[in-house]
Amino acid sequence: MEITLVKTTAPKPKPDQGKLGFGRVFTDHMFVWDYVEGKGWHNPRIVPYGPMEMDPACAVLHYGQAVFEGMKAYLGPEGQILLFRPEQNMARLNRSNARMSIPTFDEEFALHAIQQLVSLDREWIPTAPGTALYLRPFVIATDNVLGVRPSSSYRFMVILSPVGAYYEEGLNPVSIYVEPNYVRAVRGGTGFAKAAGNYAGSLLAQKNAQARGHAQVLWLDGIEQKYVEEVGAMNVFFNIDGKLITPELGDSILPGVTRDSILQLLRSWDIPTVERRLGIDEVFKAHEEGRLVEAFGCGTAAVVSPIGRLEYQGRTIEIGGGKTGALTQRLYDTITGIQTGRLADPFGWVMEVDI
Ligand SMILES: *Cc1c(COP(=O)(O)O)cnc(C)c1O
Repeated sequence: MEITLVKTTAPKPKPDQGKLGFGRVFTDHMFVWDYVEGKGWHNPRIVPYGPMEMDPACAVLHYGQAVFEGMKAYLGPEGQILLFRPEQNMARLNRSNARMSIPTFDEEFALHAIQQLVSLDREWIPTAPGTALYLRPFVIATDNVLGVRPSSSYRFMVILSPVGAYYEEGLNPVSIYVEPNYVRAVRGGTGFAKAAGNYAGSLLAQKNAQARGHAQVLWLDGIEQKYVEEVGAMNVFFNIDGKLITPELGDSILPGVTRDSILQLLRSWDIPTVERRLGIDEVFKAHEEGRLVEAFGCGTAAVVSPIGRLEYQGRTIEIGGGKTGALTQRLYDTITGIQTGRLADPFGWVMEVDI
């Protein structure tokens, strides 16, 4: 399949790298790929970034048949464009598609298109420490018909956004509210998919937690509301007695690429890791007994996000004296080092864009 290229005639000025924020500025081009039943995925094209027309009956607007991904590109020391485990994101996007009754796509081709897009907009990759080019592939249902059924047409798109440093002054431990009522995902549900609706459903709890002075929510399981699942839109790790515990994967947990990378790194450092159910009571008990050493969330945007405080049912505990744990810092330094090509890549995680 040939990718049609229409270059912008009006390139935008590049933003100030000190004021990027997250996901507010977009590059000059985007990738678009259409699907129609019977014809399959067709007409892949890179076109100028801009708004698109939509019929008010467009299926995605009504029933939320939409999935997305999040990944980052960096410039290496020799100016090479580096992607971090992008094949994992393509595979996950297809798993999300399958769950949401969206047709899957050729992952290799999509990755090729992404490389071509990033290469074309390479001047948008910021270089200041901590910055990156954020890649947002997504798929939406595009039938202009009301009715709760899978759409017969879809659009796959990729947009790019230069993003600022998540941590301006080093890792910053945050306060987390253990959500006792709302749940994010449940057995048999869509929690393992990056499905748009999952995030809409999480906003109210997040807003409530922020009103109580917390940065984010820690989600408990949707059945017994006892077991730790995720923190905001990040996976979560607890260091108890030097063992790194993270909830085991299942229907209700998003299988993070960062989570998987952390598990592999820890194993390579001979640090014990455990994937299992972890009760919130166990976390608080470990803290009481002085065995809770550190806790952190992890995901593409922040890489790791140390948890300094946890509030649950009127009790608040401080973890690691409210400071970033040693292992949390080491994981951050190692992963960002590998991602930016400043450290060796023993796992072969980094893909150099060669277009
Ligand atoms: C995207 C996401 C993560 C983190 O996944 P990464 O691949 O590490 O970015 C974790 N939890 C949820 C709910 C997510 O949406």
